[in-house]
Amino acid sequence: MNFRSIRFRLTIWYSVVLSLSLIVFSSLLWLALRHLLYADLTTNLSNELQGFEKYLLLEEGDSAFNIRQEIEEYSTSLLQDHILLVCDSRGAVIYKSSPDISEHDFILRFSAEHPYPLRFRHHHYLAAARTFTLRQGTLEAFLGVSSTPVKRATDLFGSLLFAATPLFIVCAITGGYFLSRRALLPVSLIAEKAKGIGVTNLSERLTVSQTRDELQSLTETWNGMLDRLELSITKISRFTADASHELRTPVAIIRLSAESVLRKLRSDAEYRMALHKIQRESENMTRLIDDLLFLARADVDENPCSTELINLSTLIGEVAADFRPIAESNGITLSESAPEAHLFVKGNSSDLRRLFITLLDNAVKYTFSGGTVQLHAMREDGEAVAQVEDTGIGIPDGAQAHVFERFYRVDSSRSKESGGYGLGLAIAAAIVQQHNGSINVMSRPGGGSIFVVRLPFSPEPADRMAECASHLRLNQRA
Ligand code: ADP
Repeated sequence: MNFRSIRFRLTIWYSVVLSLSLIVFSSLLWLALRHLLYADLTTNLSNELQGFEKYLLLEEGDSAFNIRQEIEEYSTSLLQDHILLVCDSRGAVIYKSSPDISEHDFILRFSAEHPYPLRFRHHHYLAAARTFTLRQGTLEAFLGVSSTPVKRATDLFGSLLFAATPLFIVCAITGGYFLSRRALLPVSLIAEKAKGIGVTNLSERLTVSQTRDELQSLTETWNGMLDRLELSITKISRFTADASHELRTPVAIIRLSAESVLRKLRSDAEYRMALHKIQRESENMTRLIDDLLFLARADVDENPCSTELINLSTLIGEVAADFRPIAESNGITLSESAPEAHLFVKGNSSDLRRLFITLLDNAVKYTFSGGTVQLHAMREDGEAVAQVEDTGIGIPDGAQAHVFERFYRVDSSRSKESGGYGLGLAIAAAIVQQHNGSINVMSRPGGGSIFVVRLPFSPEPADRMAECASHLRLNQRA
């Protein structure tokens, strides 16, 4: 037996709580019964003594009144098993119902107000005293009524409870053990099924029983986790397959180029051409590997977003200035506008620079000569918004939702020519995500594209200082 199992602990807890409740309940029951029966007996006793007094006062009126005789008569009329002792005001015994009664014991052992338990000839009594004032003087009567039936009833009830409680506890432990086993059986089944699920059969799911309880919720949560895992694993597998596929081409070109020049002696020009080819492909490969590394790190959050304050207006001005010669050499007019001189965001400047370079690079790549590319930065609804708008070829409707996916190219032949692997926008999306922002595209085939980046706006240092000062002033006034 596993002593650390929930089943075992549940049984122990259940048994301990039930046993304690049973013991407390039985004790209370026994005490309540005893109290009730003794209260009844006390009332009887007090009624008897009251009746005895009334009887003597009534009989006293008779001319032939003989006190001893009257008491004896009264004593024989008592139905219950009893003991009776009557003394006069000096303490001399006038009557005792049994010669064995030791009056000293009897008188000394109880007080007149509270009935007192008494043992006489192996019998149990409840006794009380009362003072009567008759014409011929004061009398002290001590009456004890048998409490043996009450004692027997309470003893029997107590024994029954004493014997039954352990029996109930044993039944409770056994029942608890089997109940917890039954209750936890679905958990064992879930665990058993879950053990059989691995990477090879990740599409398998646990059977959800419609019981609307915690187990149904556990199974659904588990299945949800499997859904997410399957999706992640599929993405990783696809990513690995795509990465290997993309790497295969430059590696093959490098190998083939080297093999072909090595096959026979070549001229300097031929060697130089082959080495140029190898160099170009190596550069492509390095770029691809860098991109893959960036994305892999972004997946495990290894590119923590630093918290530099960056002026987005300045940043896009710098990126636009860097890009203008390339755009112009392609016959494209590149313009930028940032109405707010200070548009601060928190983040990593080199990553944000990379983001806008990617967007501008694409805009220039996919816009024909004579077109325009515009870069805007503004503040909108408490966010810093940057827009890259071009008059290029646009993106078909069905492709817009996929352009941020890894290795996705709308038209691979078109992208290949420009040297793209379909990772640029995936990296852009990862950077935006790291900066807690969002990126969207609006495009029309042939009508150009607009990429919109939204980042959380951060008040500039001067604004923050002013804010702090006004807070301070408010606090001081309060
Ligand atoms: P690539 O490096 O191949 O350009 P990206 O991830 O940057 O990969 O872009 C994915 C795809 O989105 C590209 O293949 C291209 O077809 C499309 N695309 C991206 N930007 C634009 C744009 N400004 N205009 C038209 N198509 C674009």
